[in-house]
Amino acid sequence: MTTAAASSPRTYQVRTYGCQMNVHDSERISGLLEQAGYVRAADSGDDPDVVVFNTCAVRENADNRLYGNLGHLRPVKDRHPGMQIAVGGCLAQKDRGDIVRKAPWVDVVFGTHNIGALPVLLERARHNAAAEVEILESLDIFPSTLPTRRESTYAGWVSISVGCNNTCTFCIVPALRGKEKDRRPGDVLSEVRALVDEGVLEVTLLGQNVNSYGVEFGDRYAFGKLLRACGDIDGLERVRFTSPHPKDFTDDVIAAMAETPNVCHSLHMPLQSGSDDVLRAMRRSYRSDRYLGIIEKVRAAMPDAAITTDIIVGFPGETEADFQRTLDVVRAARFSSAFTFQYSKRPGTPAATMADQLPKQVVQERYERLIACVEEITWAENKRLLGETVEVLVAVGEGRKDERTGRMSGRARDGRLVHFATGAAGAIGQLGAPGAIGQPGAPGAAGAAGQLGAVGSAAGRIRPGDIVHTTVTYAAPHHLNADGEPLSHRRTRAGDAAEAGRSPRTPGVLLGLPTIGAPAAAPAPTTGCAAH
Ligand code: SF4
Repeated sequence: MTTAAASSPRTYQVRTYGCQMNVHDSERISGLLEQAGYVRAADSGDDPDVVVFNTCAVRENADNRLYGNLGHLRPVKDRHPGMQIAVGGCLAQKDRGDIVRKAPWVDVVFGTHNIGALPVLLERARHNAAAEVEILESLDIFPSTLPTRRESTYAGWVSISVGCNNTCTFCIVPALRGKEKDRRPGDVLSEVRALVDEGVLEVTLLGQNVNSYGVEFGDRYAFGKLLRACGDIDGLERVRFTSPHPKDFTDDVIAAMAETPNVCHSLHMPLQSGSDDVLRAMRRSYRSDRYLGIIEKVRAAMPDAAITTDIIVGFPGETEADFQRTLDVVRAARFSSAFTFQYSKRPGTPAATMADQLPKQVVQERYERLIACVEEITWAENKRLLGETVEVLVAVGEGRKDERTGRMSGRARDGRLVHFATGAAGAIGQLGAPGAIGQPGAPGAAGAAGQLGAVGSAAGRIRPGDIVHTTVTYAAPHHLNADGEPLSHRRTRAGDAAEAGRSPRTPGVLLGLPTIGAPAAAPAPTTGCAAH
């Protein structure tokens, strides 16, 4: 099946739009292509041989944006013989064959249920010199059994379920991603172990509704059990999850969070609206008192918990009184952060055809009031941490101004963004001699799994993936600063991998994939992500 010259591996680029599901799917697309012999195109350099658009159908203008981008690529393709363009993701699942009718220079269209087919479809399109459109109505193979090229050395996504059994009227997910499919706990834990074996310190369990995990195999307490099982994995320092659903949230999950040392005390629980009438119109079957009740229990079990949320303002029919209910819940819940959205019609959703769509200026004005209210709360909540010691997992790309300010950035255990001074140690990439930092053995915040006060050492500069303890000196609505000398710095295997430019891979289990160009990549050294 190989048609390309073995000496010149074909290069690829993946362009990702939309949510975390898509970001993680793009890691799988990269892993699949690399297993099939493609290599990632350099950021600056020649045009890639294959460009994959992983699309999102959530935004109103998603189609215009996609076709605009495809239009820009047409002349590039014309001057680059053999270039292929593939379109996948939610918009491909929705528009299907329309994509090649509107943009006949597209080579492959694949859906959300058959990501694994991409290398075969590319090869077939090249061989037949004709577009391949393949969309499946339901999941072909659970995506996490696909090989994955991870973007981060220190944090990884692990899908526990895909699809959703709810029918929120603003959401396109059920139509495009289908009914919930749960992955077996043993498979999830194998993938988590494989990541930890590669040095990953933090795992985020991913599902549209993690609280309904287990519905497929008849265990409504499966999610809490999964959290506890993650607590038994040596070397796993932080466990997060997204997104829970207030309707299905059970007390055992709160107990598992509180009693499992490596589960972070952070909870991102979408509110969407504080008005019960609007929640009803959204077809979200909890009410504001239930939502606040969950928060109360979480805070009773974990007083240090940081709670974040999503809120939609200006849903069809929302009155000023409804909006005031949302502000009331925001004030009562004391969020540490909130993603706020102005409602916009999402084609294909029930809400898009509802009467009483609100005028833009009404939505805008409420949105501004909501942001002001949220920021007042988040700022006050952040100020409570002034003078506190935080454990920071050093990240890449979290601090836009880091280069100018000489800081590095990362996330505290509760998910807060922290920009910190690196002190005498300096950061990788900063000039200056590596050296010891801070007070070796200084008592910091308790680390995961009972590690107290990570050891400061003469080990050198701070790298992404390392762990730092530092003291908060300034609080802003969306971040914390820590401008003193770090109290401790622990070098980690994730930091070593970041410094060496290695990224973790989980191999998946695919047989009989065609390979092109370069020989297939050697299997990644992991204990393996088990097959179903
Ligand atoms: S719970 Fe609602 S918003 Fe979330 S994915 Fe399911 S249908 Fe969409």
